Amino acid sequence: MSSRTAGGATGRVLEDRVVPPGEWWARALRRGQTLRIVDLEGRQAVDFLCYNAENPEERYNAADTMKFAKTIFLTRGHGIYSNLGRRLLTIVEDTCGRHDTIGGCCSAESNEFRYGVKDTPSCRANFLRALAGFGLGPKDIVANLNFFMNVPVAPDGTMGIVDGLSKPGDYVDLRAEMDALAVISNCPQVHNPCNGFNPTPIRLIVTESD
Ligand SMILES: [Zn+2]
Repeated sequence: MSSRTAGGATGRVLEDRVVPPGEWWARALRRGQTLRIVDLEGRQAVDFLCYNAENPEERYNAADTMKFAKTIFLTRGHGIYSNLGRRLLTIVEDTCGRHDTIGGCCSAESNEFRYGVKDTPSCRANFLRALAGFGLGPKDIVANLNFFMNVPVAPDGTMGIVDGLSKPGDYVDLRAEMDALAVISNCPQVHNPCNGFNPTPIRLIVTESD
C-alpha cells in the first residue's frame, strides 16, 4: 500500500486502519516512522504503552517522561521516554493539546472497586492480549499514557477523569526515535466520562518518509 497522503498524514503509508471501540492494536514501528492516532469522533481515550522493540525491558517510564517535560500534560515537542532515559517517541504534532499521564488504564478489578460492576471489558485486558503476541505479559504492563483523556489536577491536589477536550478528527503524530513497539487499547470504558460514556472508533496511520 502506498499513498502520498492519508488522513492528512504525509509520506508512504504502511498501515491505515480504523480500530473499533474496545479493540486493541500493536505494531513494531521502525525508527523514523510516524504513527498518527486520530480521534475520529472526539472524546475517546486511547490507552498507550511503548517499548524498545529490540529489548522490551526498556519501556515507557511515566515519571521520567513527566519530569523531563516538566509538566504532566504532554503535547507537541515532548519526548516519550524510557526507563533508560532515552526517547522512544516524540510527539511531533498534536491538534488536541490535552492528554493524560497519571490516570493509568481501566481494569475489570478497578471497575468493580469503583463502580460495583463485574467482568467489564478493559484496557488492561486489551494490553494483555496485544502484548501476548510479542511474548510479553502482566509484568510488562507499566503506568501508561492516555491520549485524548482529560485528567486535570486542582491546586489542592484533587484529580479526576472529566470530559475529554478532543474534537472529531483531532490527532497526535508520534515519531519513533528507535525501533519501538507501540501498543494501543481503544478504551471500552462506559462508567466514567473518559469516552463521553460512548466509546467510539479511532484511526491509526503509520507512515514513513521516502
Ligand atoms: Zn480503558
